[in-house]
Amino acid sequence: MTTESPMSKTDPRQLICELCRQFYTQGWVSGTGGGISIKEGDRVYMAPSGVQKERLQPEDLFVLDGSGKVLEAPAGNLSACAPLFFNAFDIRGAGAVMHSHSINALMATLISGDEFRVTHLEMMKGIAGHGYHDELVVPIIENTAHEHDLADSMGEAIRAYPKAFAVLVRRHGVYVWGKDWAEAKRHAECYDYLFEAAVKMRQLGVDASVPPVERAEAAQ
Ligand code: ZN
Repeated sequence: MTTESPMSKTDPRQLICELCRQFYTQGWVSGTGGGISIKEGDRVYMAPSGVQKERLQPEDLFVLDGSGKVLEAPAGNLSACAPLFFNAFDIRGAGAVMHSHSINALMATLISGDEFRVTHLEMMKGIAGHGYHDELVVPIIENTAHEHDLADSMGEAIRAYPKAFAVLVRRHGVYVWGKDWAEAKRHAECYDYLFEAAVKMRQLGVDASVPPVERAEAAQ
């Protein structure tokens, strides 16, 4: 573990391109869906809509000010995710937000009602403010025909669940954020792991939202 990560670069344009390539290999931004936005100071960086995320170059990015006004517009259209990214920036003071079309996020919405719930899973500790014995809850909103129409219900969910750093969208994916890109990435990876774990546990007939029976109790 001596090699310095290329992630030590702090230019948000470079970071977004690198993270999109990583997320592409994880199946989170395939088919031009999904993406990531980083806020640095009063500048917000994000990819245009409908582009091949793994081929993104720094000069392809849109730059907006803190109020959502476009300052630099490259070719293409502003992402339909923009109002959703701004929800996390404005309501939760996020420094980075990612949107994933991960199959694990989609599947997690099929085994849940209005909330995704798990407990007693080690990777919960990767989500700020959560321990192994806590309950981790992610609100689920219903999908809409157009991405930008999710903005209001996502905003309501963010306000209603102050401990959550994600909002799941039924049969669609998830929005995840953190105080900076590193926390957003960690949260995205941990949530995705928990979504996958809960779905696989369900396949085994185990409900991930129910605490395990203590050994002493089970032995009686
Ligand atoms: Zn989407």
